[in-house]
Amino acid sequence: MRVTTAFNRMLRLPGASVSDVEFGDEGVVVTVRSRRRAKRCAGCGGCDGLQVRDRRGKRWRHLDLATSRCWIECELRRLDCRRCGRLALEAVGWARAGAPYTRDFEDVVVWLAQQMAKTPITKLMGIGWASVGKIIERVVAERLDGLVWLGVDEISYQADHRYLTCVADHQTGVVWAAPGRNAQTLQGFFAQLTTQQRHRSGRSRST
Ligand SMILES: [Zn+2]
Repeated sequence: MRVTTAFNRMLRLPGASVSDVEFGDEGVVVTVRSRRRAKRCAGCGGCDGLQVRDRRGKRWRHLDLATSRCWIECELRRLDCRRCGRLALEAVGWARAGAPYTRDFEDVVVWLAQQMAKTPITKLMGIGWASVGKIIERVVAERLDGLVWLGVDEISYQADHRYLTCVADHQTGVVWAAPGRNAQTLQGFFAQLTTQQRHRSGRSRST
């Protein structure tokens, strides 16, 4: 089996096709090509009115391969978007817009953040404290974007009955939580949604 085929099967990066693999001092560098022909703006997600300005190489940190760091590299089109006015690299399937990490890497960090404190995550994943926060922000923003069917519940913790209000998506799990159990607490959730997200959640069925 060719090494590129092996890495395609092992990494399963959405929308990517492995074209080269190099083993160096910094770890394993996997060069990929984006299989997406159609252009999509990473800023607004629009597909129309996009002009190719130039091409730039980009590198993402992926999950480690055994004891080696793993990097994904790809040359991408830099697009001028008439719809949102941004000049940004085209959107790719294996990473969130603007992220220096792959989706798989960020998803693991977010899962860990639900299980443990930040400091052990920084040691386990080899990233800085601030990066953990940025990853969580990106993933939560994306989950809020895809919210269709909300559930709201409260849980009590500690002996003196402190409460936590949780908002969950029925498909992806908890997307937001804050101390308290009244209408004002829940208002905090709606306050952080964009107008578009609020409009959509207004049509959702709350349970
Ligand atoms: Zn755009």
